[in-house]
Amino acid sequence: MRVGVIGAGISGITCAKYLAEYGADVTVFEKSDIIGGRCCTEVLEGYVFDTGATSVALRGKLIDEEVLSLSEADGVCKIEKGTFAHAYGKVFPGDKQANNVPRYCFKQGMGALVGFIGKGIDIRLNTDIIDVNKNSDKKYVIEDDVFDYLVVATPIPEARRLLSSVGDHRSFSNAKYRACLSLCYGIECDLSHLPYHALINLDGRDPLSWVSIESNKTPERAPDGCSSIVVQVSPFYSFQKFSLSDDILLKDVWIMLKNLLDIDMDKYGVGLVRKWLWSQPEITISFSHVNRMSDTIFVATDALKAGRLEMAYECGYEVAQLIIKKEESE
Ligand SMILES: Cc1cc2nc3c(=O)[nH]c(=O)nc-3n(C[C@H](O)[C@H](O)[C@H](O)COP(=O)(O)OP(=O)(O)OC[C@H]3O[C@@H](n4cnc5c(N)ncnc54)[C@H](O)[C@@H]3O)c2cc1C
Repeated sequence: MRVGVIGAGISGITCAKYLAEYGADVTVFEKSDIIGGRCCTEVLEGYVFDTGATSVALRGKLIDEEVLSLSEADGVCKIEKGTFAHAYGKVFPGDKQANNVPRYCFKQGMGALVGFIGKGIDIRLNTDIIDVNKNSDKKYVIEDDVFDYLVVATPIPEARRLLSSVGDHRSFSNAKYRACLSLCYGIECDLSHLPYHALINLDGRDPLSWVSIESNKTPERAPDGCSSIVVQVSPFYSFQKFSLSDDILLKDVWIMLKNLLDIDMDKYGVGLVRKWLWSQPEITISFSHVNRMSDTIFVATDALKAGRLEMAYECGYEVAQLIIKKEESE
């Protein structure tokens, strides 16, 4: 069987991996020039930033095996420092239970995780799929390739558009995402004395929702004596300021950040901004409501489970199992 997958995020790549292991002929189409989607890394002047997912938590899900099968030589590492909380400018020890969950990252950046899962898969980068067609045999045609099954592994608004291009208007009812601005700073200041790798604002009132000291996850993330930081700002701030220039955003958040971390520097060294319009689903939709055995086109994305890597992985796996079951029953 031939399967086309649109989207090389963790959902699409996981689905492709399990189908390829079964023996299917799989091709993944990705609009970007790299794989990973919202699990991605950007490198600037020796600073390494995870602008999407900052770590993967091992919570007894399928992805655990994937992460634990990798070795130190692959760059995988357990994050030793936990998370702390902040509110009203003060920092507190974090939630004990949450800190008991083992979290992992990659020295070279989280994007590597999707690279390992997708090893050996036929992936066509820089291929933005505008629409999908069906031929007279009711097979799917993408870029002159013909497929028995199609997996749309993109966020729901994009999946809805692609499905409707083949006349499939299935309901995604209440799909809703929050926007998120990720602001990255490289600074010539050593923050390795801080006892945490991330600070979370638990009351939701502070624009600095999640402050990840990337170089405290693993020291390879910044040049010697320097630190790399990623700030994910709150949904409210992200929504209000989404269209502001990178420069204004970086300056605005820098003032709040240096006060919170007590950094005695007027300027940051390097800065970059990543704008996520669909960062994480606010409401999830039932997997079985969207995907049925009677279909030949399926949707695999985190919004059918939860906005986390391990859940996106599960979704990709379950879609692969559905296709395999269908193939075997025919
Ligand atoms: C800022 C941020 C922080 C996060 N932090 C964490 C965290 O710490 N831990 C955690 O577990 N999770 C975290 N998440 C959530 C996690 O990243 C996502 O749940 C997961 O990556 C979603 O994967 P996906 O494959 O479903 O979708 P995506 O990663 O969005 O993949 C979809 C892919 O489809 C491609 N695509 C879209 N349209 C087309 C088209 N028309 N043609 C071709 N390709 C197309 C996109 O380019 C993309 O590569 C975070 C997310 C964000 C945004």
